[in-house]
Amino acid sequence: MERASFECGTCDRSVRAAAAIRPSTYGGLDEDRWETLCCPHCGARLTTVFVG
Ligand SMILES: [Zn+2]
Repeated sequence: MERASFECGTCDRSVRAAAAIRPSTYGGLDEDRWETLCCPHCGARLTTVFVG
């Protein structure tokens, strides 16, 4: 089951998955398979999830 929220280690806030921003994937990962979630408060990367 997908986690509903993530802890940002940079600004120490809890970020709901629905509130996280999704910039283009880093490092040449396949966008169809990987989704990067970033903190909307400080922009730090929270996690990269496999979606495909
Ligand atoms: Zn943050």
